[in-house]
Amino acid sequence: MDKNSITEFTPGQIDGLSAMVASDRFSTGQSNRELHLHDISPHKGTMPAGIIWPVSTREVAEILSWTYKEGIPVTPWGAGTSTEGNPVPTRGGLVMDLTQMDRILEIRPQDLQADVQPGVLRKRLNRQTGRYGLFFPPDPGADATIGGMIANNASGVQTVKYGATKDNVMKLTVVLPQGRVIHTGCKAPKSSSGYDLTRLFVGSEGTLGIVTEATLRLSGIPVHHLAATITFNNLENASEAVAVMMGSGLEPAALELLTPGLIHLMNREKALNLPDLPSLFCEFHGISKAALNETADLAKELCEDCGAIDFKFEIGEAERKELWRARHEAWETIHRAHPGNETLIVDAAVPISCYPEMVVLSQRLVDEKEAVGYVFGHAGDGNLHVVMVGDPANPGEWNTLEEINHSIVTRAVELGGTCTGEHGVGIGKCKFMQQEHGESFELMQQIKTLIDPKGLMNPGKIFM
Ligand SMILES: Cc1cc2nc3c(=O)[nH]c(=O)nc-3n(C[C@H](O)[C@H](O)[C@H](O)COP(=O)(O)OP(=O)(O)OC[C@H]3O[C@@H](n4cnc5c(N)ncnc54)[C@H](O)[C@@H]3O)c2cc1C
Repeated sequence: MDKNSITEFTPGQIDGLSAMVASDRFSTGQSNRELHLHDISPHKGTMPAGIIWPVSTREVAEILSWTYKEGIPVTPWGAGTSTEGNPVPTRGGLVMDLTQMDRILEIRPQDLQADVQPGVLRKRLNRQTGRYGLFFPPDPGADATIGGMIANNASGVQTVKYGATKDNVMKLTVVLPQGRVIHTGCKAPKSSSGYDLTRLFVGSEGTLGIVTEATLRLSGIPVHHLAATITFNNLENASEAVAVMMGSGLEPAALELLTPGLIHLMNREKALNLPDLPSLFCEFHGISKAALNETADLAKELCEDCGAIDFKFEIGEAERKELWRARHEAWETIHRAHPGNETLIVDAAVPISCYPEMVVLSQRLVDEKEAVGYVFGHAGDGNLHVVMVGDPANPGEWNTLEEINHSIVTRAVELGGTCTGEHGVGIGKCKFMQQEHGESFELMQQIKTLIDPKGLMNPGKIFM
């Protein structure tokens, strides 16, 4: 435990925090503190001294200005679905749970925009915007909060067409560590006005302040969808087809690669009846069925040129939904197949021309080291996942997984890629930041010190 950790508040601090919110919105109870100690990773935190649930920007500002004076670390919390320890408190202190700031403030269909508070869950937002034929495209597998998605710059299977969270956030209200409230960005579809502070806060993982309001960019719900499953005899052909499809101008709305081990688990759990072979799951969005059929014909031709042995696109709506549900639940499926174990998740991303090399390397490392690991990814984005399974209490086994992760990230960075395409740095990827960013990592540290001189906002994330 860090010597500056705070695991219990003094009676004076409890009085101070209690005075700022209604009595049921501050807790020092053991069960609440334990519930805010883990995300889905095995990263260990330090027990927070208390949890607070603010309901307005004003309350967040008042709390932060007080915690700053008291020198209390503050860790923001959304739905706790991160994979790298991002919301896990490392120095105890106060966890600020944003889930009660869950109002959809305004939907402006004519501008394709919505104003929301950070605790809004993405599926609920999409149910509401769906009434206007609109949706917020970033789609991580979990039903995350918008604040958590902004903080991690989350993406999902549709990012290849619609962009990541950073591409779909226009304007933010942020409370800085000392309680100052700022507004970044604007509601115009474009702007060249000064530094892009919105992009600075998107992906900052709560280390620079708390997002209390966001204006989001919405997209029209596509009129027609066409899903396809494409099967290959080997991994090389499957991953090479990705770059060909992306370069063809077909603009898939999703392009996912799956390897036989994962397909096997999905077949067993969801009865998908797919061959246990390297596969692509693909989807196109368009304005007419005829146009989509033409697109699929061309995609089929391209994939067959790359060695595809099957290209199935006569997929009904129920089957299509089941296919994407199975893909979204890949992590849960793996987790359920290995009860009692934890997962270490590779999240490297590379230029798409390097994707085949990375996929083959990852599968080879898993096989050579006889690790339990499933290779898949958002192939159209060059984003590669390997979900590896093991027991952190068994150092031999866990170190092997760490070594595989290290080798994959090192190669990805050499190829001009990144250690994390979408999950964020959290605790787990801090060790790669210097290697990936060199000199600019120093500038990131200077920005952090400028905005948070006492280092109280979500300490231990991004920077060790
Ligand atoms: C099954 C499963 C599948 C997943 N699939 C994907 C995927 O496909 N793509 C992907 O990108 N991610 C994926 N994730 C990871 C995760 O869902 C995302 O990172 C998500 O954005 C986390 O949101 P959350 O609400 O759970 O935030 P949390 O995990 O609670 O917090 C995330 C970070 O945001 C900070 N934070 C939270 N709220 C605020 C706020 N208001 N202001 C400032 N900082 C804040 C926290 O301190 C933390 O650093 C998956 C997770 C699971 C469990």
